[in-house]
Amino acid sequence: MLAAAPSPIVLLFLVALLAVGASKCVRERKLRGKLLGCSVCVLACLIGFAIMWPGYYHAGSTARKNACIANLRQIDDAKEQWALKNKLTIGTAADTIAVNGYLKNSQAPACPAGGTYTYGAIGVHPTCSMGPSAGHTL
Ligand SMILES: [Zn+2]
Repeated sequence: MLAAAPSPIVLLFLVALLAVGASKCVRERKLRGKLLGCSVCVLACLIGFAIMWPGYYHAGSTARKNACIANLRQIDDAKEQWALKNKLTIGTAADTIAVNGYLKNSQAPACPAGGTYTYGAIGVHPTCSMGPSAGHTL
């Protein structure tokens, strides 16, 4: 699998690929005319995009998923603290506003992919509306 985050090596490879394409472009123009040279440039660019695009796309969705999981952990921890402080038992429905009091700035975090959080009962993991299929789950 391609690296989750586009590494400097991948970026270096793309730059080298474009440089090779550009230098070939100049040479080919002199020898065989514009059409062949430009086709090499276009091909180099297409290969570059083909290599980079899945990496960028995958890195973006993975980053959003991981940020959402971190938010769910914070909500879960806040629920636990709220339950301990108030001596609540498993199955008690979470009071969202009270639980938010144990979160940073007393505010519920937002899912970076636009999902909404359901706090659920004590003893149950909070969930994101983006769902487990998107990996937004504890
Ligand atoms: Zn989410």
